[in-house]
Amino acid sequence: MKPSPIVFRNARAVRAIAKHCAYCGDEFTRRNPATFDHVIPRLRGGTKATNNGLAACQHCNGLKGSLSLDEFFRRFPLAIQNVKAYLKERQGKKIDGVEYAAAIKKRFGLYY
Ligand SMILES: [Zn+2]
Repeated sequence: MKPSPIVFRNARAVRAIAKHCAYCGDEFTRRNPATFDHVIPRLRGGTKATNNGLAACQHCNGLKGSLSLDEFFRRFPLAIQNVKAYLKERQGKKIDGVEYAAAIKKRFGLYY
């Protein structure tokens, strides 16, 4: 079954589900706000659906840019553990009825 295409409606919704950047693990604050990072970049056909999104700080979102997740992990291998921890923390949390971590892991084949 295809996961429902759902979006983080706004920055507050992103913060509600994630306290830390998926890539570097830094805590989100007023000065370090959460952004919606498109895992498959929009330039490469990625959608705005929640299962294509990780909450990232602006710095990491900029570093990732239009890289694929694999390309990003090759450049920044420490991010792999942070993404795994991010998804583990998010297990069971739902956005619009869809279990977020499961939807991301299924889509990107991320297992731990
Ligand atoms: Zn970050």
